[in-house]
Amino acid sequence: PHSADQIAAGEVVERPVSVVKELVENSLDAGAKQIEITIEGNGVSLIRVHDDGSGISPEDLPQAVLRHATSKIRKIEDLDELQTLGFRGEALPSIASVSHLEIVSRPAESLIGMSLKLTGGKQDDLQEIGCPPGTTITVKDLFFNTPARRKFLKSINTEFGLISDMLGRIAMARPDVSFSLKHPKQIVFQTPGRGKLLESISSIYGQKLARQLIPLTISLDQYHLEGFISPPDLVRSTRQEETTIVNGRIIHSKLLSRAISDGYHTLIPNRLYPIIVLHLTLPPREYDVNVHPTKMEIRFQDEKILSQFITEQIRKTLLASRP
Ligand code: ADP
Ligand code: MG
Repeated sequence: PHSADQIAAGEVVERPVSVVKELVENSLDAGAKQIEITIEGNGVSLIRVHDDGSGISPEDLPQAVLRHATSKIRKIEDLDELQTLGFRGEALPSIASVSHLEIVSRPAESLIGMSLKLTGGKQDDLQEIGCPPGTTITVKDLFFNTPARRKFLKSINTEFGLISDMLGRIAMARPDVSFSLKHPKQIVFQTPGRGKLLESISSIYGQKLARQLIPLTISLDQYHLEGFISPPDLVRSTRQEETTIVNGRIIHSKLLSRAISDGYHTLIPNRLYPIIVLHLTLPPREYDVNVHPTKMEIRFQDEKILSQFITEQIRKTLLASRP
């Protein structure tokens, strides 16, 4: 028999990378400036996310793992103005229902922290504990009670690759936050969190690559475009190193990818792709995001104008940078 949380877990937590994403988004929602992620193996044995965010008060901690116990919507009208990444209150209970979970948390104004432990969503232990302000969430034995899901997981390379790719993109979406990713003893990357996009790119893709990128900054009416793009002789065979961020959210959009490719038209052969990190800022009324548990869709008001704008700016920037 499966609980409602386990069923929801089937949607929210497909694999280790989805757990990491939910936990890190919670840390960002809590205003963290420093987030440390530790993964063992493919993420099944251990995922730990430590942040210096606002913390969870001792009274609220047991509630945080209950279904729809979000602290992020107080009234239904809030939905329209929602700035946070999470709002369904489904992630923690879903993750708890399919793992051994420990939450250690302390708001800065609280003198003492609390630790809450659960197995398969059932509370094992709740006690006071000394800890720094912020939150540490440890997920062990992911999918221990849903063997079918566990069997579907791929190798360490695949699962950890997905995690590190996703975290790299989040880190480039938020250069103001310091992210570090550890895979047991090794630091995979660490971004400085000083608000400089190129520093984050450099931490993730390496200094040598970052140095070759061309900066792009342009404002036109309500659109603002800012980022780094590779010269036409620095290309990849996949879109893996293309990251598009709209008002701070990582967006996978065929429209944006197309617009980027068109900007490189005739400069690079078909089926080769630039390395690119683009932040697009535009008024919220200019687009619509539909957030599903597993995917995110975006629709722009003025698709044609927007894609022409991006294509043009990339083309101009490339031409201007020619020696
Ligand atoms: P949601 O993010 O949709 O509100 P979650 O299940 O992801 O729901 O989290 C439940 C609640 O637990 C959040 O609303 C928040 O109050 C609290 N919480 C979770 N993680 C953190 C964290 N890292 N720091 C502070 N509060 C947190
Ligand atoms: Mg959340």
